[in-house]
Amino acid sequence: MPWINGEDCIGCGLCVENCPIGTISIENGVAEIDMVNCIHCGICHDICPKDAVKHDSEKIPDEVKANVTKTKEFMYACAKYLDDPKEKQKCLNRMIKHFNKEKIVIEKTLEKLQMLKKK
Ligand code: SF4
Ligand code: SF4
Repeated sequence: MPWINGEDCIGCGLCVENCPIGTISIENGVAEIDMVNCIHCGICHDICPKDAVKHDSEKIPDEVKANVTKTKEFMYACAKYLDDPKEKQKCLNRMIKHFNKEKIVIEKTLEKLQMLKKK
């Protein structure tokens, strides 16, 4: 999925003009994508003169960090609200289960998408 690095965007509007479904706008001098409508065609990425439109893969370290932070917050909250330090580890195990389930969803989705290539 594309996203715009606000620090690199100069608000030239090229991506706005060329997005085939008009889902990019300039807000406060910086381009913004409405991801609800984006069809992931990649035109904005290819056309940007400042390389301000980035790929999702560049967010992986931040997303991993956010997942770990969220898990730690839940662990402490479980121990606090259930008033038992043992709840921390139980919560951690539930979060590991949750992310494992997410992993399986992605793996199974990728399997199906690979099959579409052969059609
Ligand atoms: S083309 Fe690039 S620099 Fe121009 S508005 Fe879009 S994202 Fe910003
Ligand atoms: S990927 Fe395509 S549809 Fe999505 S914002 Fe960019 S140009 Fe528009």
